[in-house]
Amino acid sequence: MLENNSVKINIAIDGYSSCGKGTLAKSLAKLLGYRFIDTGAMYRSVTLYFINNAVDLASPKAVEAALASISIDFLVTADGGQEVVLNGVSVEGAIREMRVAERVSEVAALSPVRKKLVAMQQKIGENKGVVMDGRDIGTVVFPDAELKIFMTARPEIRAQRRWNELQANGDSISELEVLANLSHRDAIDSSREDSPLTLTKDYRVLDNSELDREQQLQLALQWVEVAMSGLPAS
Ligand code: C5P
Repeated sequence: MLENNSVKINIAIDGYSSCGKGTLAKSLAKLLGYRFIDTGAMYRSVTLYFINNAVDLASPKAVEAALASISIDFLVTADGGQEVVLNGVSVEGAIREMRVAERVSEVAALSPVRKKLVAMQQKIGENKGVVMDGRDIGTVVFPDAELKIFMTARPEIRAQRRWNELQANGDSISELEVLANLSHRDAIDSSREDSPLTLTKDYRVLDNSELDREQQLQLALQWVEVAMSGLPAS
């Protein structure tokens, strides 16, 4: 397994909201010794800043000024995960709240926002060895990624998983509201003009409606092996 592991690849994981992209990406990164980057957390951080500073999304000037005052960093957690730091403050908890989820797709549809974050993401992945999850990683951020995985699951299963997470964080919200938010975000994310979520032919599709975490990981590892076997050892 993974005999050619002297070669580093980039792995793009895209797909609908709450499909478990982050969970798979984190496990893969840990096993391969790669860096894990959750790009949704970056869009959520920008959204949190916009909410807290009442930035008018309809004003390109206000959006540009706000973006110029945002800096995003990452801390690597003990379990190989990621904690996002917005202007020096960890916002890992705040970005998962519903008030952010309700606005994030609107903010993520703005081209100046995407331009700034995509440039950061490309810089992080320039030396390979990154597992990045999002919506446009295999299409825009790393169109040449050696492995592209598109994750999906039945909507009610995704809503249930997300609801469990929100409950654990003390958010009192109904499952129906969660389902409505996921459908709303998926619709905007798939139809926006700038880098919509798109399933192209070069993705491996992983529907995890009926798969547990270990089964997903094993499947992805097989794909990693195939992706690496096509590369010359360095
Ligand atoms: O992955 P997560 O659900 O945390 O992402 C939150 C939102 O950020 C998505 O619904 C989408 O609007 C936006 N996003 C994006 N492009 C990415 C990652 C996330 O537009 N690469």
